[in-house]
Amino acid sequence: MTVDGKIKVCPHCDSSELRRLTRDARKSRTHGEKDRYYCQDCQKYCHDPVRREPYRKDRGAHVGLSRRLIEADPDDVGGIHDG
Ligand SMILES: [Zn+2]
Repeated sequence: MTVDGKIKVCPHCDSSELRRLTRDARKSRTHGEKDRYYCQDCQKYCHDPVRREPYRKDRGAHVGLSRRLIEADPDDVGGIHDG
């Protein structure tokens, strides 16, 4: 989650299941290397993830969708506004 509320997602499959691969922070800064990300959904690597507003489906998308819908908590939508 970033300051403006946007999340980083995979440019290949639009998944939010990205993991930043941090190697040596100091080394990275010295050489100006970009962070590398690994997508757990499509198993691809990328340097420039897409930044977008988070979708509701981004949360627990892999954990039984139908059950998630039944257990949907009204308070969960707080903070997300259209426009
Ligand atoms: Zn992906």
